[in-house]
Amino acid sequence: MDALRRNQYLRTIGVDVWVSRHSAAAAYEASSREAAEPPVAQASASEAAAVLLAQTSGRALHKAEPVVARPSVSVDVVPAVVPTPVLDVPPTVTTWESLRTEVLACTKCPLHGSRTQGVFGVGSREAQWLVVGEAPGAEEDRRGEPFVGRAGHLLDAMLKAIGLSRGSNVYIANVLKSRPPGNRDPKPEEVAACLPYLMRQIELLQPRVMLAVGRIAAQNLLATDVPLGRLRGKVHRFGELNTPLIVTYHPAYLLRTPGDKRKAWEDLKFARSVFQGLTPT
Ligand code: URA
Repeated sequence: MDALRRNQYLRTIGVDVWVSRHSAAAAYEASSREAAEPPVAQASASEAAAVLLAQTSGRALHKAEPVVARPSVSVDVVPAVVPTPVLDVPPTVTTWESLRTEVLACTKCPLHGSRTQGVFGVGSREAQWLVVGEAPGAEEDRRGEPFVGRAGHLLDAMLKAIGLSRGSNVYIANVLKSRPPGNRDPKPEEVAACLPYLMRQIELLQPRVMLAVGRIAAQNLLATDVPLGRLRGKVHRFGELNTPLIVTYHPAYLLRTPGDKRKAWEDLKFARSVFQGLTPT
């Protein structure tokens, strides 16, 4: 991907990649970015990352700031081998389409009474990447597809920045397949009823890398109550295939807390480096 396209993706996820001599002008440009795009410096990917770090930590942007080289996979990462939860996978459901049919007809928890429809997942069945979110929201419930609201647009832009798209090379699914009313957190009994479907999806997809977005997805996949902040920056291992699993923030959280987009970008680069480390060149 060339620098210009990467900068466009970074701007879409709210990461500023242009260089302004005056921080006041930069702040103004940031607030009016949606109305008119400012001129974009032809920054390299590493310059873009450096500018991103400066911008989101509140410092003024200067093109001359040194670019700190980082190893593609941080050396202080302690791989966490996490036991996979033992789950009751429906034994009769053996194919993708029969699993989808079962999910869409599921009445195992009371959410089926308030949902418009079940939301199975979206993306390529051949994908090597699996992104796991929490549960459908209002828009997802209406359209039957995960991550199609505001948070979904941000997720798409984040994924695009590392070369992924739901139309070609990533699969996206949620822990819950039905919308909790009022977008409340899933209840433990709802997760217990629905998680076996996600486990079966993972078995059938056999992704090479998993990205858990948000606390609910991360904690349920890893069967832990460790806070999200402490789950980031590690290569967890999921399931019998020891699939690498990386944790990052939920895009809805990033919409509320744009200052943490810098950390999300670090997570995405980390996940990409883990994937590249797996891929024979
Ligand atoms: N949030 C999620 O976690 N999943 C969706 O599908 C939409 C919003």
